[in-house]
Amino acid sequence: MRAFVVLTVLAAAAANAQTTVVSGTRPARLIIRNATIVDGNGTPARGPFDIVVEGNTIAQIVALDPVAMRSGVGRRPAADARTAEIDATGKYVLPGLIDAHAHLQDERAGVAQPIDYELKIWLACGITTVRDVGSDTKKALAWRQASANGTLAAPRILVYPQFGRPTNADSARARVRALKAMGADGIKLLGIDRDIMQVMEEEAHKEGLRVAHHVGVEETNAWDDIHFGTTSIEHWYGIPDAAIVDGVQNFPSYYNYNNETDRFRWAGHLWREADPARLQMVLDSMVAHHVAWVPTFDIYEASRDLQRARTQPWFADYLHPTLEDYFRPDPANHGSYFLGWTSTDETFWKENYRIWMNAVRDFERKGGLVGAGDDAGFIYQMYGFGLIRELELHQEAGFNPIKVIQHATYNNARILGKENELGRVRQGYQADLIVVNGNPLENLKVLYPTGVDEIKDGKPVHTGGVEWTIKDGIPYNGPALMRDVKQMVAKARAERANHADRQR
Ligand SMILES: [Zn+2]
Repeated sequence: MRAFVVLTVLAAAAANAQTTVVSGTRPARLIIRNATIVDGNGTPARGPFDIVVEGNTIAQIVALDPVAMRSGVGRRPAADARTAEIDATGKYVLPGLIDAHAHLQDERAGVAQPIDYELKIWLACGITTVRDVGSDTKKALAWRQASANGTLAAPRILVYPQFGRPTNADSARARVRALKAMGADGIKLLGIDRDIMQVMEEEAHKEGLRVAHHVGVEETNAWDDIHFGTTSIEHWYGIPDAAIVDGVQNFPSYYNYNNETDRFRWAGHLWREADPARLQMVLDSMVAHHVAWVPTFDIYEASRDLQRARTQPWFADYLHPTLEDYFRPDPANHGSYFLGWTSTDETFWKENYRIWMNAVRDFERKGGLVGAGDDAGFIYQMYGFGLIRELELHQEAGFNPIKVIQHATYNNARILGKENELGRVRQGYQADLIVVNGNPLENLKVLYPTGVDEIKDGKPVHTGGVEWTIKDGIPYNGPALMRDVKQMVAKARAERANHADRQR
């Protein structure tokens, strides 16, 4: 009976709507009706609610549950001539996902790839913000601006340029100031000497720039991140290294770091060499010094299961030929290390993952801040799809899906320093929201734009997917974006086939 009342009111409210939702155009006012909300703050699903977006802000969230309706607080906001509506009955609304480890790529190995390809897949996967941790900085800043202006269909972009390798303290400080002047949001470290790291972090703190560190097999490890105040450790290297009692992994004599097969093979032995008691000390210190962790489990998955990585179902329609070429094993492409990859390598890597996943769990239990990013564009991970796979791997690590969603929303917003505006479904926050066909707390796979197959009333149905990605108040239709992507890929493949014919 109560459900009937709600539906009648919905019909009455909808009758006044004058505007239809147009993908890519921000309506003056948008109401998402009857939504079940999973907020980004680690609380369970609740609903239904009407969510009112005015411009690019979440203006109002109105509870419509029977208690709220009977008590009179559940007064449905009316639609007027400038209001567009999305019916979210039976759907889940989440904060837009944030990819904390992304790369803006309009080429692979020097071959052009349309930037829209990556941007549209990101949006279709529900990603409304990316932290770009290394790309062509000038282009990235221009795309950041175009996205902010609403002239480019893209997530919000935060630019963390690669720091490079200054050779002395003065040039390190100058580099930090130059990046600040350029408009960078933060800095990405990859391979750095300890003395340079110390001064660059001092300067970055002065300039208010956050630091993301991809620790290589190098002089520094997590202890340096703890002492110098790194914002987030990317991937995982540097953490087990800091827990190796003898200070160096037991590498074979022939090991050469610049040989990627050596690098990835022996990385698979790294976690087992970490002393468990010392590892707990490292994690405790990271927590105490507020060093966050963005593990990017997905980007190493080929190491533990190469066949799975190479045969992902979305490759059929959505893998751009430029990216496909780049993924082919070639020692000159970063991450193409798996020529000669063995069952023995995979077995070591499976153990490596078990210890690593437990460490990430321990870290959060101690109070550590875990984020989520995918590092896609390398090692068989496609943009967007990689982040959703990452969420599945967080679930595999033992996190409740409520926490998994939190990693990719509010936790990432905290890592970015945007926790007062992003990562929550909360009044006054930026209108970055996704409308999902299905319950991601039951099955994270419903977030894949290719959807899922389910049995409903005894019949197989294809469902799932992010139906609407609302970024900055602009709704984008997920299936429409993926149709564009599919066409882009088909066109690029046809051009290649023509080219090959002409050469014959
Ligand atoms: Zn990366």
